[in-house]
Amino acid sequence: MRCPFCGHKKTEVANSRTTKSGTSVWRRRSCLSCKKVFSTYETPSLDFLVVKKRNGKNTRYAPHKIFASLFDACAAGKGQNGGMRDRGDAAATAQMLLERIEQKILASRKSVVSTKDLIRLVGEELESTDLPAFYRYAAFSPHKQETLGL
Ligand SMILES: [Zn+2]
Repeated sequence: MRCPFCGHKKTEVANSRTTKSGTSVWRRRSCLSCKKVFSTYETPSLDFLVVKKRNGKNTRYAPHKIFASLFDACAAGKGQNGGMRDRGDAAATAQMLLERIEQKILASRKSVVSTKDLIRLVGEELESTDLPAFYRYAAFSPHKQETLGL
């Protein structure tokens, strides 16, 4: 892997460990040229995952769509003064929750999930992390409300 600082082609692994869930590997690398240290996080891609939609059709799992719903829910809607109320951490929170959701899918060893499964997974993470975001997520979708038992 190329060094992100100087672009040198050779880096060496100084340390590595498997994450708690056992599905990812973290590596501490150092550049052989500029000596700077960085880490990589290797996690299986879910590009094998098929999502069964409500209309019965199958589609490829699209992590950016899950990220977008998490981000929208966490970033909050318009405040009373009409301005956005993004607390600034929505992107980081959405990324963290997306990783947790993908870990759960990997741990389940499924290769097909339904739209409802994804809604439940997103709902579970939001409910335990940010309750207002959980309600915003379901706010304008009767289908999500029904799936989440609201
Ligand atoms: Zn370097």
